[in-house]
Amino acid sequence: MDFPLILSAINSANAAFNMVKGFASVSTEYAVKEKTIELQSQLGTLLSQLVEIQLSMSNLAHENADIRNKIAAFVDWDRNVVPKYQLVNLAKGVFAYRLRNLPGDGEDEPEPEHHLCYGCFQNRRKAILQFSGYNNVGAILMCNECGKPIINHADKPPSWGPVSVSRRDPFPGY
Ligand SMILES: [Zn+2]
Repeated sequence: MDFPLILSAINSANAAFNMVKGFASVSTEYAVKEKTIELQSQLGTLLSQLVEIQLSMSNLAHENADIRNKIAAFVDWDRNVVPKYQLVNLAKGVFAYRLRNLPGDGEDEPEPEHHLCYGCFQNRRKAILQFSGYNNVGAILMCNECGKPIINHADKPPSWGPVSVSRRDPFPGY
């Protein structure tokens, strides 16, 4: 990152340093020579301090850019992600965020129904839970961000579904 003002101050201090160096070599008078060398040393210190200031300003500018990006991501999350999702209870103690059924703006394709990982949502990470098969109680939904699976008890394995029992009375009239 460039700071024109600091850069020009460094150039000025550098020019002054070189000028003073010239004086010391042309002056024959001892007192002048001595003071000139002193001045040269002061200018050298000033120069290195300016270079340090430039470095800290550059570090601060990077930190500032970083913070601005983080704030922008926070604002974006609160404005564009949070309102679109609703905390739902898939089973006792099993939570996820479900895409709300909001009317689209007519421009974008509507998003397919999906759930986001609860833990990742708290960390402002949008991690869509991916179906990865069934266990004996329900569908396993995997979070590829944090690696945690959750079980959707409402989505039973196909063979596990309620057994259909014929309700027809085999003995009508009794
Ligand atoms: Zn997760």
